[in-house]
Amino acid sequence: MQEKLHMTQHPGTNPPAFRTSVSGVTDDGIYLTESYCYPRGGGQPGDIGILTGSDKKSEFTEVLGGENILHPMENPSIFSSGDEVLCEIDSIRRNRNTKMHTAQHVFSALANELYGAETVGNQISDGYTRIDLLFPDRDQFNAEDMSEAVNDALRSNSDVSIHEWDRSRILSHEQMRHTKFMDRIPSSIEILRVVEIEGIDLCPCGGTHVSNTSDIENITITNSRSKGAGKLRITYE
Ligand SMILES: [Zn+2]
Repeated sequence: MQEKLHMTQHPGTNPPAFRTSVSGVTDDGIYLTESYCYPRGGGQPGDIGILTGSDKKSEFTEVLGGENILHPMENPSIFSSGDEVLCEIDSIRRNRNTKMHTAQHVFSALANELYGAETVGNQISDGYTRIDLLFPDRDQFNAEDMSEAVNDALRSNSDVSIHEWDRSRILSHEQMRHTKFMDRIPSSIEILRVVEIEGIDLCPCGGTHVSNTSDIENITITNSRSKGAGKLRITYE
């Protein structure tokens, strides 16, 4: 499995361009020897950007994960294995996704704190996020209270930091949220990346994050509707 180098860059905003080489060409896109691109996952869209070789250039569409990180493009065959390339990630899109993703941590943590709700799904789209919550009692949910609590937390100038902790430390931590998915990570991986939003949230995560909650604009809840027993699908901008 190719190392996801975006995880070595925190904050995950304004990712720098990087030089590398083409390690493979398929009908669908390009593999790179190393890539700092965020591959789609965990509700966060993958990066897009531009790949430039000595006499060739192509945009790539949403980067996908897997055994190797795929940079999909229309005509991958203009590149050959071994080509030296410059990879420039679209930072406007990345910055937006990074802010939306970090806001989702805050939202999920507060939904848990206020209503005992568990986040069971989330998807970031262009300008809005939808999040599926499972409540002990969903009638308690109040969109206005929730928005206010999230925005108060965002305005609290809380630092966002990254830790590398082993599984037992993560699983035994009282404040740790969102650990169920850890079963799906191969047990050979003992050290996991934990994201801490000071005083607000602590959970294992491989997404991209801002350095301080003050980087994120206020949210507005625009919709909430039933998603089955005890569940609500909430949309916010
Ligand atoms: Zn995250």
